[in-house]
Amino acid sequence: MPGLTALPAGCAVPEHGPLAQRRFPEPDHPYRSPFQRDCGRIIHARAFRRLAGKTQVFTHRGSDHFRSRLTHTMEVAQIARTIARALGLNEDLTEALALAHDIGHPPFGHAGERALDEALQGQGLRFDHNLHALRIVEHFENRHLEFRGLNLTLAVREGIVKHSHDYSAQEHPELAEYFVDRRPPLEAQLIDLADEIAYLTADLDDGMEAEILTLQQIRGEVSLFERYFAPIAGTHPGAPDKLLFQEALKLMLNALADDLVMEIRRRIREHGIQDLEGIRQAPERLAAFSTEIERLRREAKEFLYQNLYLSEDLKRGHREAEQVIAELFAAWMADPAQLPPSHFNQVEEEGAARVVADYIAGMTDHFILESHRSIRKTVVPSRS
Ligand code: MG
Repeated sequence: MPGLTALPAGCAVPEHGPLAQRRFPEPDHPYRSPFQRDCGRIIHARAFRRLAGKTQVFTHRGSDHFRSRLTHTMEVAQIARTIARALGLNEDLTEALALAHDIGHPPFGHAGERALDEALQGQGLRFDHNLHALRIVEHFENRHLEFRGLNLTLAVREGIVKHSHDYSAQEHPELAEYFVDRRPPLEAQLIDLADEIAYLTADLDDGMEAEILTLQQIRGEVSLFERYFAPIAGTHPGAPDKLLFQEALKLMLNALADDLVMEIRRRIREHGIQDLEGIRQAPERLAAFSTEIERLRREAKEFLYQNLYLSEDLKRGHREAEQVIAELFAAWMADPAQLPPSHFNQVEEEGAARVVADYIAGMTDHFILESHRSIRKTVVPSRS
C-alpha cells in the first residue's frame, strides 16, 4: 500500500491536554492513559454488557453465529483501531469511541430506534441514539462514590455525541461544551466509517448464514465483492464456495479500510492540515472514502437494503418490534407509576415521555419482550 506514513503528529488528540480532562478532576493513573481508562470504564459498564442482548440485524433465534450489538461493537473497535494506528492517531481514544458507539441503541436494532422515535414524536420529542448514549455515560451508569456517571474525558464525550453527524449550536444549546459547529477530531470521524465497513461486510455474511442472500445474488449485484471473488475463484478451482466467500469478504473489508486510510491522508495533504485545529476548521469531514469506493459502498448498501433489511423475513420482526415498543410506551405513559421506582422518581424532573423512552432504550430484546408480556397481563387480564 503506497504512502504508509502517519499524518502530521499534531493531527492526533494528545494523551494529555484539555480534551483529556474530566468533569470531576481525578489524579492521573501511574501507567494507564486517560483514554485507556475510558475504554475500561465503558467495557465495565452495565449498558455495554447489555449490548450482548440487543439485535444488530438478526435476532438470535435463527443462529448462534449472527452478530449481536456487542460482537459488532468489537468488530468496529478492531477496524477503527487498525485505521487509527495506520494514521498515527490516538488509538486508545479511537477504541473508547468505537466501544461506546452503539451503547445508546434501543432493543430490536433500527426498527426499535424508529419505533421509539415515533412514539416520542407523538409527545413533541425525538429519540437520538447518540444523545441517549451521552445520557447513559453521564447519568445512568453509577459505579463511583464521588460522581454520577462514568466521568469520561471530554474527547470521549464529544466523540459519542458527534461521531456520526455534526450538531448545530442553535438547535442544541445544551451541547455547547462539545465544540458544536466545528468538526470533531479524526478519531471520532473515522468511527462512523469503521462502523460502515464492519456492518457492510458482516451483514453480507449474516445474510448468507440466514439463507436470505445467495452467493450468486451478491456476486451479481455487489461489484466490490465480485472484484475480489472472481479472481480467487479462478485461481482456486474446486475450492468450497463458503471459503471463497469468506476470502473475498475479507479482501473487500481490507479494501474499504485501505481506501479510508489513503483518502484521509489525501484530504489532510490537500487541505494542508497540520493539527487538530485544522481538522476542526476544515470545510468538510476528512474521514471519507475515495469517490470510486464511495460509489461501490453505496451500491453494496443499496443491495443490503433491497435484499436484506427490507426483506419479508426481516419485516416480520420489524412489525413485532414496532408493536411491542408502541404498546409499552403507551402503557407507561398512561400510568407512569407502573415504572420501576428508580425510573418513576425521574418523571417529575424529566417528564414521563423522556423517562419511559430512557427505560425502553436501555432494554435488551429479551427483557423488553418479558416486559411486554407482563404489561399485557395487567392491561388485558387473561380470561382463561
Ligand atoms: Mg454500529
